[in-house]
Amino acid sequence: MIESFSNNSRVLLGVGFIFLLITTESVIVASPNHTLNPYYSRTDTTKLHLTDAEWKRILPPEVYAIAREKGTERAFTGKYDEFDGTGAYYCAACGNALFRSDAKFASSCGWPSFFEPLRKDGVLYRPDSSYGMNRTEVLCGRCEAHLGHLFDDGPPPTGHRFCMNSLVLDFEPDVQGKKSGE
Ligand code: FE
Repeated sequence: MIESFSNNSRVLLGVGFIFLLITTESVIVASPNHTLNPYYSRTDTTKLHLTDAEWKRILPPEVYAIAREKGTERAFTGKYDEFDGTGAYYCAACGNALFRSDAKFASSCGWPSFFEPLRKDGVLYRPDSSYGMNRTEVLCGRCEAHLGHLFDDGPPPTGHRFCMNSLVLDFEPDVQGKKSGE
């Protein structure tokens, strides 16, 4: 009797351990860069006002360098530069939905480019006169992460080119006809 109980316990423990492994694995796969970021959400649109010190604590260094220090990834090196998956792109700092793949086009400029944002208030614009150029900076509408710049040499129907850094974008594919981000 005791031996049988003990065997059952072992089986239960084993099943529990395997379940824990599977659960942990799926969490890690679903949000590879956000395990330290309690503010990341694909549904909460509350604006975020965090200090740079807090952003530095929760973002991977390469994301922080672009999102908060307005860095730029090297041309033709970003993971989404020549990527044509069907789905949506989210802010890598906060999870805000930014672009649909339908608005992505092959700009050949070296960075992922879109002709329009997913929602009008999904992004913010700010004049940028750094490096002796007059440009329009594009920021995340929820957390004000620097995303890239806006140019007027894009294709129809808008003529816009949102020139973005892959490092501050997270792509999520559409699943079974459900459009990601909508
Ligand atoms: Fe954001």
